[in-house]
Amino acid sequence: MHDLWARSDVYHNSFLIKPDPVLESTERRTQEKGIPYEIAVSPAQGKFLHLLLRSVNAKRVLEVGSLGGYSAIWMARALPDDGQVVALEIDPLHVEVSIEENVAHAGLSNKVKVILGPAHASMQALPSDALFDLVFIDADKPNNTNYFIEAKRLVRSGGVIIVDNTGRKGRLVDPTDMDPSVEGTRELLRFIKDDPEVEATTIHTVGEKGFDGFTFAYRK
Ligand code: SAM
Repeated sequence: MHDLWARSDVYHNSFLIKPDPVLESTERRTQEKGIPYEIAVSPAQGKFLHLLLRSVNAKRVLEVGSLGGYSAIWMARALPDDGQVVALEIDPLHVEVSIEENVAHAGLSNKVKVILGPAHASMQALPSDALFDLVFIDADKPNNTNYFIEAKRLVRSGGVIIVDNTGRKGRLVDPTDMDPSVEGTRELLRFIKDDPEVEATTIHTVGEKGFDGFTFAYRK
Protein backbone atom coordinates (compact mmCIF):
# COMPACT_ATOMS: atom_id res chain seq x y z
CA MET A 1 0.00 0.00 0.00
CA HIS A 2 2.68 2.46 1.07
CA ASP A 3 4.77 1.44 -1.93
CA LEU A 4 2.01 2.57 -4.31
CA TRP A 5 1.86 5.99 -2.63
CA ALA A 6 5.66 6.29 -2.68
CA ARG A 7 5.54 5.67 -6.44
CA SER A 8 2.69 8.14 -6.80
CA ASP A 9 4.77 10.75 -4.95
CA VAL A 10 7.71 10.15 -7.29
CA TYR A 11 5.35 10.29 -10.29
CA HIS A 12 3.97 13.70 -9.30
CA ASN A 13 7.47 14.96 -8.53
CA SER A 14 8.59 14.00 -12.03
CA PHE A 15 6.27 16.71 -13.36
CA LEU A 16 6.47 19.27 -10.57
CA ILE A 17 10.00 19.20 -9.13
CA LYS A 18 13.02 19.61 -11.40
CA PRO A 19 16.15 17.50 -10.89
CA ASP A 20 18.22 19.35 -8.31
CA PRO A 21 21.93 18.48 -8.12
CA VAL A 22 22.40 20.58 -4.96
CA LEU A 23 19.69 18.74 -3.04
CA GLU A 24 20.86 15.41 -4.45
CA SER A 25 24.36 16.07 -3.16
CA THR A 26 22.87 17.17 0.18
CA GLU A 27 21.20 13.77 0.42
CA ARG A 28 24.37 11.93 -0.61
CA ARG A 29 26.65 13.85 1.78
CA THR A 30 24.21 13.41 4.68
CA GLN A 31 23.99 9.66 4.11
CA GLU A 32 27.77 9.34 3.76
CA LYS A 33 28.12 10.76 7.28
CA GLY A 34 25.80 8.04 8.59
CA ILE A 35 23.08 10.59 9.41
CA PRO A 36 19.54 9.17 8.97
CA TYR A 37 18.56 11.14 5.90
CA GLU A 38 15.26 9.25 5.61
CA ILE A 39 13.80 11.30 8.47
CA ALA A 40 14.18 14.54 6.48
CA VAL A 41 11.09 15.95 4.80
CA SER A 42 10.32 14.57 1.35
CA PRO A 43 11.00 16.62 -1.81
CA ALA A 44 7.27 17.38 -2.11
CA GLN A 45 7.09 18.53 1.51
CA GLY A 46 10.26 20.61 1.08
CA LYS A 47 8.75 22.29 -1.94
CA PHE A 48 5.49 22.88 -0.06
CA LEU A 49 7.41 24.76 2.67
CA HIS A 50 9.29 26.69 -0.02
CA LEU A 51 6.14 27.74 -1.86
CA LEU A 52 4.32 28.63 1.34
CA LEU A 53 7.15 30.98 2.34
CA ARG A 54 7.23 32.61 -1.08
CA SER A 55 3.47 33.08 -1.13
CA VAL A 56 3.53 35.10 2.12
CA ASN A 57 6.77 37.00 1.27
CA ALA A 58 8.42 35.49 4.33
CA LYS A 59 11.76 36.89 5.47
CA ARG A 60 12.47 35.08 8.70
CA VAL A 61 12.08 31.38 9.49
CA LEU A 62 12.89 29.40 12.62
CA GLU A 63 13.59 25.70 12.18
CA VAL A 64 13.61 23.41 15.23
CA GLY A 65 15.60 20.28 14.27
CA SER A 66 17.69 20.50 11.10
CA LEU A 67 19.41 17.11 10.59
CA GLY A 68 21.49 17.61 7.40
CA GLY A 69 19.97 20.91 6.34
CA TYR A 70 17.63 19.53 3.68
CA SER A 71 14.47 21.39 4.74
CA ALA A 72 16.56 24.45 5.71
CA ILE A 73 17.88 24.63 2.15
CA TRP A 74 14.38 24.41 0.64
CA MET A 75 13.21 27.18 2.96
CA ALA A 76 16.26 29.45 2.64
CA ARG A 77 15.87 29.40 -1.13
CA ALA A 78 12.43 30.97 -0.71
CA LEU A 79 13.72 33.99 1.18
CA PRO A 80 14.92 37.36 -0.14
CA ASP A 81 18.62 38.28 0.03
CA ASP A 82 18.21 39.75 3.50
CA GLY A 83 16.09 36.83 4.73
CA GLN A 84 17.25 34.27 7.28
CA VAL A 85 16.59 30.73 8.46
CA VAL A 86 17.64 30.25 12.07
CA ALA A 87 18.24 26.50 12.41
CA LEU A 88 18.34 24.89 15.87
CA GLU A 89 20.10 21.53 16.17
CA ILE A 90 21.41 19.55 19.13
CA ASP A 91 23.77 17.13 17.40
CA PRO A 92 27.28 18.52 16.70
CA LEU A 93 27.82 15.94 13.94
CA HIS A 94 24.72 17.17 12.16
CA VAL A 95 25.79 20.79 12.55
CA GLU A 96 29.47 20.63 11.72
CA VAL A 97 29.76 18.00 9.06
CA SER A 98 26.36 18.15 7.51
CA ILE A 99 24.16 21.22 7.86
CA GLU A 100 26.99 23.73 7.50
CA GLU A 101 28.65 21.84 4.63
CA ASN A 102 25.38 21.27 2.82
CA VAL A 103 24.22 24.84 3.28
CA ALA A 104 27.61 26.17 2.10
CA HIS A 105 27.51 23.89 -0.94
CA ALA A 106 24.04 25.26 -1.70
CA GLY A 107 25.51 28.80 -1.58
CA LEU A 108 23.20 29.74 1.28
CA SER A 109 25.58 30.30 4.20
CA ASN A 110 24.58 33.97 4.33
CA LYS A 111 20.94 32.99 4.80
CA VAL A 112 21.17 30.14 7.31
CA LYS A 113 22.33 30.66 10.88
CA VAL A 114 22.77 27.44 12.82
CA ILE A 115 22.59 27.38 16.61
CA LEU A 116 24.02 24.24 18.23
CA GLY A 117 22.34 23.07 21.42
CA PRO A 118 19.06 21.85 22.89
CA ALA A 119 16.38 23.64 20.90
CA HIS A 120 14.18 24.59 23.83
CA ALA A 121 16.99 26.51 25.54
CA SER A 122 18.02 28.05 22.21
CA MET A 123 14.45 29.23 21.63
CA GLN A 124 14.21 30.67 25.14
CA ALA A 125 17.39 32.67 24.44
CA LEU A 126 15.96 34.24 21.28
CA PRO A 127 14.52 37.74 21.77
CA SER A 128 10.84 38.37 20.99
CA ASP A 129 11.60 41.59 19.12
CA ALA A 130 12.74 40.04 15.79
CA LEU A 131 9.70 37.97 15.05
CA PHE A 132 9.60 35.06 12.62
CA ASP A 133 7.10 34.60 9.79
CA LEU A 134 7.13 30.82 10.18
CA VAL A 135 8.38 28.31 12.73
CA PHE A 136 8.93 24.74 11.52
CA ILE A 137 9.05 22.27 14.43
CA ASP A 138 10.69 18.97 13.46
CA ALA A 139 12.81 17.72 16.38
CA ASP A 140 12.22 15.42 19.38
CA LYS A 141 8.46 14.90 19.55
CA PRO A 142 8.09 14.61 23.36
CA ASN A 143 9.09 18.31 23.46
CA ASN A 144 6.48 19.39 20.89
CA THR A 145 4.39 21.39 23.36
CA ASN A 146 7.43 23.15 24.84
CA TYR A 147 8.55 24.12 21.35
CA PHE A 148 5.04 25.22 20.42
CA ILE A 149 4.78 27.54 23.45
CA GLU A 150 8.10 29.19 22.58
CA ALA A 151 7.16 29.30 18.89
CA LYS A 152 4.05 31.30 19.77
CA ARG A 153 6.26 33.88 21.49
CA LEU A 154 8.63 34.05 18.52
CA VAL A 155 6.24 34.12 15.56
CA ARG A 156 4.48 37.28 14.42
CA SER A 157 0.73 37.69 14.62
CA GLY A 158 -0.58 36.27 11.34
CA GLY A 159 2.43 33.96 11.09
CA VAL A 160 2.46 30.18 10.96
CA ILE A 161 3.75 27.34 13.14
CA ILE A 162 4.06 23.95 11.44
CA VAL A 163 4.67 20.85 13.55
CA ASP A 164 5.84 17.91 11.47
CA ASN A 165 5.05 14.20 11.95
CA THR A 166 1.84 14.65 13.92
CA GLY A 167 -0.01 11.96 11.90
CA ARG A 168 2.35 9.20 13.02
CA LYS A 169 0.65 6.41 11.04
CA GLY A 170 -2.58 7.01 12.96
CA ARG A 171 -1.02 5.71 16.17
CA LEU A 172 -2.48 8.53 18.30
CA VAL A 173 -5.92 6.88 18.27
CA ASP A 174 -4.59 3.66 19.83
CA PRO A 175 -4.94 4.23 23.61
CA THR A 176 -2.48 1.40 24.35
CA ASP A 177 0.27 3.14 22.37
CA MET A 178 2.27 5.10 24.93
CA ASP A 179 5.31 5.73 22.75
CA PRO A 180 6.85 9.04 23.93
CA SER A 181 6.60 10.61 20.46
CA VAL A 182 2.95 9.59 20.17
CA GLU A 183 2.26 10.89 23.69
CA GLY A 184 4.13 14.13 22.95
CA THR A 185 1.93 14.68 19.93
CA ARG A 186 -1.28 13.96 21.87
CA GLU A 187 -0.16 16.45 24.51
CA LEU A 188 0.34 19.09 21.82
CA LEU A 189 -3.18 18.56 20.46
CA ARG A 190 -4.65 18.87 23.96
CA PHE A 191 -2.69 22.09 24.44
CA ILE A 192 -3.83 23.61 21.14
CA LYS A 193 -7.48 22.70 21.83
CA ASP A 194 -7.61 25.13 24.76
CA ASP A 195 -5.31 27.76 23.31
CA PRO A 196 -7.15 30.94 22.25
CA GLU A 197 -4.02 32.32 20.53
CA VAL A 198 -3.95 29.91 17.57
CA GLU A 199 -6.23 28.26 15.02
CA ALA A 200 -4.91 24.95 13.77
CA THR A 201 -5.57 21.97 11.54
CA THR A 202 -3.80 18.68 10.86
CA ILE A 203 -3.22 17.59 7.27
CA HIS A 204 -2.52 13.88 6.93
CA THR A 205 0.01 12.92 4.30
CA VAL A 206 1.12 9.83 2.40
CA GLY A 207 4.00 9.37 -0.01
CA GLU A 208 7.70 8.61 -0.06
CA LYS A 209 7.87 8.99 3.74
CA GLY A 210 4.91 6.72 4.46
CA PHE A 211 1.74 7.66 6.33
CA ASP A 212 2.06 10.77 8.46
CA GLY A 213 0.82 14.34 8.69
CA PHE A 214 1.62 17.82 9.93
CA THR A 215 -0.23 20.34 12.07
CA PHE A 216 -0.52 23.85 10.68
CA ALA A 217 -1.25 26.59 13.22
CA TYR A 218 -2.12 30.20 12.48
CA ARG A 219 -0.89 32.62 15.17
CA LYS A 220 -3.67 35.12 15.89
N1 SAM B 1 14.00 19.21 9.44
C1 SAM B 1 14.97 18.25 8.96
C2 SAM B 1 14.76 18.03 7.48
O1 SAM B 1 13.60 17.82 7.09
O2 SAM B 1 15.74 18.05 6.72
C3 SAM B 1 14.82 16.93 9.69
C4 SAM B 1 14.98 17.03 11.18
S1 SAM B 1 15.11 15.44 11.96
C5 SAM B 1 13.51 14.80 11.75
C6 SAM B 1 15.16 15.86 13.65
C7 SAM B 1 16.40 16.59 14.11
O3 SAM B 1 16.14 17.13 15.40
C8 SAM B 1 17.64 15.70 14.25
O4 SAM B 1 18.71 16.25 13.53
C9 SAM B 1 17.95 15.72 15.74
O5 SAM B 1 19.33 15.69 16.05
C10 SAM B 1 17.33 17.05 16.15
N2 SAM B 1 16.98 17.11 17.57
C11 SAM B 1 16.51 16.10 18.36
N3 SAM B 1 16.34 16.54 19.61
C12 SAM B 1 16.71 17.84 19.62
C13 SAM B 1 16.76 18.83 20.63
N4 SAM B 1 16.39 18.59 21.89
N5 SAM B 1 17.19 20.06 20.29
C14 SAM B 1 17.56 20.35 19.01
N6 SAM B 1 17.54 19.43 18.01
C15 SAM B 1 17.11 18.21 18.32
